[in-house]
Amino acid sequence: MLNIVLFGPPGAGKGTQSEKLIAKYKLTHLSTGDLFRAHLGQGTDLGQLARKYMDEGRLVPDEVVIGMVDDKIKNTQDSNGFIFDGFPRTVAQARALDLLLEEKNMSISGMIALDVPEEVLKERIRERGETSGRVDDQDEEKIKTRIQVYLDETIPVATYYKGQEKLTKIHGVGAIDEIFANICEVIDSY
Ligand code: ADP
Repeated sequence: MLNIVLFGPPGAGKGTQSEKLIAKYKLTHLSTGDLFRAHLGQGTDLGQLARKYMDEGRLVPDEVVIGMVDDKIKNTQDSNGFIFDGFPRTVAQARALDLLLEEKNMSISGMIALDVPEEVLKERIRERGETSGRVDDQDEEKIKTRIQVYLDETIPVATYYKGQEKLTKIHGVGAIDEIFANICEVIDSY
């Protein structure tokens, strides 16, 4: 089983690369951002709860995120593995994920971290905001908050996987297919 954590700041291209990886390796996509947006769209209690955090660019509390991921893993059968996209975003989430997987005799194969300079990120998110309809993509202050949250709370997750010798960094600027080829090379070495 291949279980990959795709890591990087907002706007790094995780969604784009995930789509290509899913097609190639037949993996199950587990994007916590997408799951929250689906809950929002369906007007569930979980969606209501998540909205106030998401709209401001802050993190949804760990217990809420972990419960949702647990459900998704439990409800997925016969998978070749998962791409975790936008999760784990805190060290507490990373620890919880290791425990969840252990219970199911699964483990993380590796983390792939997309490296993109801050100025490029801001520009990409601004551009995406013109078509995505995402409230958190359309406001300079919210974009700033998300990048700051990433620096403060999410970067330590890369250190966590580095400690397990599972971290590989990939340069995330350039042609989408070139970046994809570099990611595949890493995955094929697992
Ligand atoms: P991006 O990475 O482009 O900011 P996402 O779609 O991954 O976008 O996430 C959007 C928002 O959803 C985040 O700003 C946060 O409020 C919430 N969110 C998503 N994943 C998590 C997570 N693992 N932990 C806490 N909050 C999350």
